[in-house]
Amino acid sequence: MISENKKLISIVIPCYCEEESIPAFWDEICKTTGTMSHVNFEFLFVDDGSKDNTLDLLRTLSFKDSRVRYISFSRNFGKEAAMYAGLQEAKGDFVAIMDADLQDPPSLLPEMLRTVESGKYDCAATRRVTRKGEPRIRSFFAKMFYKIINKISDADIVDGARDFRLMSRKMVDAVIQVGEYNRFSKGIFGWVGFKTKWLEYENAERRQGETKWSFWKLLVYSLDGIVAFSSMPLYIASVLGIVLCLFAFLAIIFVIVRQLIWGGSAYGWPSLVCIILLLSGVQLFAIGILGQYLSKTYLEVKKRPIYIVNETDSDNPFTNSEKSAGGSASKETTSLVEG
Ligand code: UDP
Ligand code: MG
Repeated sequence: MISENKKLISIVIPCYCEEESIPAFWDEICKTTGTMSHVNFEFLFVDDGSKDNTLDLLRTLSFKDSRVRYISFSRNFGKEAAMYAGLQEAKGDFVAIMDADLQDPPSLLPEMLRTVESGKYDCAATRRVTRKGEPRIRSFFAKMFYKIINKISDADIVDGARDFRLMSRKMVDAVIQVGEYNRFSKGIFGWVGFKTKWLEYENAERRQGETKWSFWKLLVYSLDGIVAFSSMPLYIASVLGIVLCLFAFLAIIFVIVRQLIWGGSAYGWPSLVCIILLLSGVQLFAIGILGQYLSKTYLEVKKRPIYIVNETDSDNPFTNSEKSAGGSASKETTSLVEG
């Protein structure tokens, strides 16, 4: 039963083409939340411009269960945008973020809730201690990324950290305040601070469907993360420039002295070509780094919205009136599969 003085937990679920995963996810999450009767739940699905029947499923679900809300984007804006929209719209005293593919085990929720309810922590976050089932090369690059970013940025980014976490209202409000366009949530969560308890678990493989992250997408995302949370690449480019200038200066002195002592004319042009190639390469590399920061700045100053909403549960013609009136009365747990 829903009671007014119970705390409300919002569960934000970013979904992109998850028609295969949602029914199983819904069953599992209902099982777990069913055992947590001292709190109320709100399930906020964010349809990130799915091309399959995800939105239809969400409409049905929200019609059947008044605790279910949804936001549907006008196109695919990416998981970062979906999480941000979810956090902005969530009404709960505590807010959790979960993937729809059951890679984030719902069974951890009770412990996460106990952790933040105790008042000692503002956030219960999860990290995978294994990467079982993941391609080796992907794990290798992921490990390298965490090593590098932790060396060169102030943000504390934990290896294997998932976006699966439960946060207090205080922390959610802080994360929402960080309204930057180029979002790298793993960094933002660390940057806002607050006390976080890390719960560890073994990697679970995706139950249905396929990952939406190609190796290339992940690589670009990790570079974005570095640009968003560190100015180190700019320093590296500058230091490289200074070192090369010094080197060139010494080389000039050497050439002049050699000319004065031994005379002779321009021999060694192949080495000259090598030097020109090297230097122009380094210059392009440095300009490229500069360009990365400039392009991010360009996107930020344009102040485009992070996402655009096409439809929400309040537009759903089938949504029952109880919910639009702001009540949170819930029907018994419904199964999507039954129709
Ligand atoms: N997702 C999203 N927008 C995207 C890509 C993914 O909302 O553009 C969602 C996806 O539906 C899932 C979660 O983000 O709920 C994690 O995605 P996925 O399982 O593909 O990533 P992985 O677990 O392989 O890192
Ligand atoms: Mg996944």
